[in-house]
Amino acid sequence: MIEIRGVHKSFGSLAVLRDVSLSVPAGSVTVILGPSGSGKSTLLRCINHLEKVDRGTVRVDGELIGYRQDGDKLHELPERLVLKQRAGIGFVFQTFNLFPHMTALENVNEARGPRDALQLLDRVGLAGKAHAYPRQLSGGQQQRVAIARALALDPKLVLFDEPTSALDPELVGEVLDVMRDLARAGTTMVVVTHEIGFAREVADTVVFLDGGRIVEQGPPAEVLDNPQHERTRAFLSKVL
Ligand code: ADP
Ligand code: MG
Repeated sequence: MIEIRGVHKSFGSLAVLRDVSLSVPAGSVTVILGPSGSGKSTLLRCINHLEKVDRGTVRVDGELIGYRQDGDKLHELPERLVLKQRAGIGFVFQTFNLFPHMTALENVNEARGPRDALQLLDRVGLAGKAHAYPRQLSGGQQQRVAIARALALDPKLVLFDEPTSALDPELVGEVLDVMRDLARAGTTMVVVTHEIGFAREVADTVVFLDGGRIVEQGPPAEVLDNPQHERTRAFLSKVL
């Protein structure tokens, strides 16, 4: 579903992604771990072309993201086509980003997707809160609305950038439960998170990113329980 090849990305003189290649099969869950500043958010943002890569390619469902290929030359796609590609990729942020003046239902409808907004709210356990405004909802409920909104356009995959990091600890579980249900339903997901328990239980692949490079990747039983690299071990000893 996602094919990332040889991606480099710098901000000025700061190299943030260095030769990153990653394949994400349809219906699989990939968890990305790594210290702060290692390039996790930038990698997600490159997948939906919120950031332009300096080198390398990103394909989603076979389609080159952000560019049209002409022989061995790449031409940037017009904004209209980039937006169309982006609409097929759900994105859930750490900070929910709901519209404060819209109800839960209106927030989900706002995407004008093909899926029924009330059904989507029901799927995240919030049909009863359809007419509540974000300020009337807990952080966990707001994030579940944000997930429903990300599903409204019937995306091919959903990217999650630390979806539970802004939540009080007692609200983390309800959001992870919704994500676990999505995974069980076969949604292709890439999740940046420090929730190792979630990674162990739900991920097909765990990727450890450090200094903009993929240091290690594999099934959770390998990367989490038997890491081969010192930097992975050092990171896990801090978050476990
Ligand atoms: P992570 O999500 O792993 O914490 P990020 O991908 O957000 O890391 O950032 C990686 C590095 O790139 C950090 O040093 C960050 O400060 C820098 N960075 C991210 N976005 C920008 C930007 N738009 N301009 C300049 N530097 C950036
Ligand atoms: Mg980040």
